[in-house]
Parts: sequence; C-alpha cells; structure tokens
Amino acid sequence: SSEAPARYFSSEPSLQVDSTEENGFKGHGMLAPFTAGWQSTDLHPLGSYVYDINGKKYIDALAGLWSTALGGNEPRLIKAATDQLNKLPFYHSFWNRTTKPSLDLANEILSMFTAREMGKIFFTNSGSEANDSQVKLVWYYNNALGRPNKKKFIARSKSYHGSTLVSASLSGLPALHQKFDLPAPFVLHTDCPHYWRFHLPDETEEEFATRLATNLENLILKEGPETIAAFIAEPVMGAGGVIPPPKTYFEKIQAVLKKYDILLIADEVITAFGRLGTMFGCDMYDIKPDLVSIAKALSSAYIPIGAILVSPEITDVIYSQSNKLGSFAHGFTYSGHPVSCAVAIEALKIYKERNIIEHVQKIAPRFQEGIKAFSGSPIVGEIRGLGLILGTEFVDNKSPNDPFPAEWGVGSLFGAECEKRGMLIRVAGDNIMLSPPLIMTPDEVEEIISKYGDALKATEERIAELKAK
Ligand code: PMP
Repeated sequence: SSEAPARYFSSEPSLQVDSTEENGFKGHGMLAPFTAGWQSTDLHPLGSYVYDINGKKYIDALAGLWSTALGGNEPRLIKAATDQLNKLPFYHSFWNRTTKPSLDLANEILSMFTAREMGKIFFTNSGSEANDSQVKLVWYYNNALGRPNKKKFIARSKSYHGSTLVSASLSGLPALHQKFDLPAPFVLHTDCPHYWRFHLPDETEEEFATRLATNLENLILKEGPETIAAFIAEPVMGAGGVIPPPKTYFEKIQAVLKKYDILLIADEVITAFGRLGTMFGCDMYDIKPDLVSIAKALSSAYIPIGAILVSPEITDVIYSQSNKLGSFAHGFTYSGHPVSCAVAIEALKIYKERNIIEHVQKIAPRFQEGIKAFSGSPIVGEIRGLGLILGTEFVDNKSPNDPFPAEWGVGSLFGAECEKRGMLIRVAGDNIMLSPPLIMTPDEVEEIISKYGDALKATEERIAELKAK
C-alpha cells in the first residue's frame, strides 16, 4: 500500500464538441447547467487528466465535479457496467421487487459507514434527489410520530445541497435563490461556520463555535423547537468555498440539536469515500447523524447514483407506522438501478482493494502543505482544506473585508491562468477550489502545486497591472 494505486490510460481521446465555437450556446441543443451560455467543452478523461477538443492536456484538479475519485478511465467500472447490462439492464425496486446489485450495494454501504449504526439505504440518482428525499422522509417520519408541525429545516449560509427546488432551497448560496423565487418558506439559514471570515476580534475558534451554537439555539427557540425538524450540514462545505468547520463546532451543534429533538442530516455528497482522508466526513468530525446523503464518489461519477442512509430509529418508525399512514410512497424509476449499483459496488471494492484511505492520507500532507505554502501571497486571504480538498479565497490587503472589485473577476483570472497551464479547477467568485482524483500520484500532486504557483504569480501580476491603472 506504499505505492500509488494502479491507474490506466486509454490511448485515443475522442473529442466531440468544439469549445472554441464562437456561438456555442445557440449552436447546440443543450441548455447547459451553471453556464453563462457561450462555452461548452466536452473533455475526454484519462486517469487524472482530460483532453479538450484541441488535444490539449489538463490535470483535472477538480475530479470532474469533485466526483471522479478513481480518475477518468477505470476499466473495472466500465466492465462492471457492461457486465450488468448483459445480465439484467433494468428492473425497478418498487412494491417489494428489486435486484441483487441494489441489495448488495445497500449492505455494502451500511457496512462501510461506521460513525454509528445505520438501518437502511434509499437509492436516488443524484445528490440533489438525495437531499429532496431527505426532506420528504423527515416529514413522513414526523407525521408518523404525530408531530405535524415539526417540519422546518435549518441549513447554513454558503452551503450547497443541490439545485432542485428543495435542495436549492436548503443551499445557502444567493445565486441559487435569486430569480428562482427560493428558498421555500420551510427552510431557515443559520451562520456559515467560516472562522477566518466571520470571527470577532480576539475570538478563538472554540469561542466562535460556541457563538454559532448559541445562535443556532436562539433561532430554534425563536421559531419554536416543536416546529424544527432537521438540521443539514456538509462536514466540510464544498461549493461555498471549501470551509472546514472550526474546532469543536460539530460537538456543540450536535448538543443543541439533541436538546431539541432535531434530526441531523450529514450531506456527504463530496466528503464520502475518502475525500478528507477518512472514509466519511462523519468519521473526521465525530458526527453521529440520523441521516446521510451520498452520491458522486459512490460510483466515481461514472454513472448517476445517490443514496441516503437512514438510522434504525427512523426506519423503525416508518415501518411500524406505514399501516396507519400508507406506504412510504416515494421513489424513482431508477432508484437502485442495477447498472448504477453494479458500478458503485465495483467502485467501493476498488477503494478497499487499493487502500484508498491510506493513499489519501499518504499524499494529502504534501498536497496541503505545498498549496498552503502560497498563503503569503498578497492577493490570498486564506487557503484552507484537509485531505484532498482545498479552497483559496482571494482578497485585497489580506483582509476578509477588502474584496477585489467584482469586475476584475480575480477568481476567473486565476482559473484562466490555470487553464492556460493545463489545469482545471473550480471558480466561484473570488474563491477557487481543488478536489483532485483520490488516485493521484505524488508526481501529479507536484504538478498541481507547481501549476497553482505559476498561475498565482501570473494573477498577482495581472492585479498589479489593474491596480496601476
Ligand atoms: N450536496 C453537495 C454537498 C454537493 O456538493 C452537491 C453537488 N456538488 C450536491 C449535494 C448535489 O448533487 P447533484 O449535483 O448530484 O444533484
């Protein structure tokens, strides 16, 4: 296990969409998600790399969308899908019918999650569907318990939980709400646990965590604890800017939730299966959730699948009450799709066989230390992260209160400098994020650090020019 896990490369990039097409938005038939309209690139993935239409090679420092944990061309996943397609391409899981791959995958997930005992797995097709399903499940549960008023959800500012009506409502990012008439009224948002940005002068991390837990308690008391059903949180916030929690945060938050009989949902869509250097984010922060959402690395993103893990207490209520309430009438044609489940089973097998957690623990320190060494840059406010996830926030004067002018687009400038040098990252405003494949080799870690450093230097120069104007 001291060597990097084996990786495979296919020889021929197949390139389909011309990213340089001037009017790509009108030129093709797809309404592209989260896209301003004119750029669409179909990248051919190979290991930790992807190639664009022009054959240019990029290191994929975001692993697709924080998702291709095993890189872009793992033949065992492709074989698992084709084998299953040959055996039984589809059957559903409604009305006590199901398929072997879905039962096997449910058991496998339950055995891998050890932060606490879990009861059952409900399958979805995505992270958004998982979080939507969480809300319906929690409502059904509280109806079953005769608590029809306990229905509100508390999420956090800057969280990302998906983009369907309900999961976008849970998310705490204004762009997901504005112009969509969201959030839905049953969703409340509490503080973002970002110490660097939001701590008071002289406040320690622990004191900051205490203040946030007190604010949460005050919100619960103001609304009435009998109206609050659940609290949802990513162990480390992802799309909001890679924000790990301050010390003691989850311990203090969990105590408040317990006091008022409020369920805790861990959104592990990014953090599950090794991203932080533990199998789940719940292991890293000693979180004992009632419900968990997973997706992405569950299949290394080769095929759509998400799931929710449900505690035995909740499944017991659902089963014991379903005579009274009627069956749990919720599910999707593709819940537990046998091909998706077969791919996920193989992905989980590979994580175990290749000791993916040990591998992440081995390469993460250099990844973290190598990138964090750039923290002194005059345009960097904070570099934060753990395991194989990192965020950088660009500000002026090293101060969270001095953003660069929005029209400079500093995050995008940095993103473009990375692309120029053959590296793909995530840009969101003046935050940039890295979440590379878990199978990265030490050389690929060095490549990311070096490209990041060069892109940073070029961005510093661009900002110096903009300031001089
Ligand atoms: N939750 C989290 C924490 C996520 O990061 C994401 C996707 N980035 C989602 C939910 C939504 O998942 P999907 O895009 O599969 O619907």
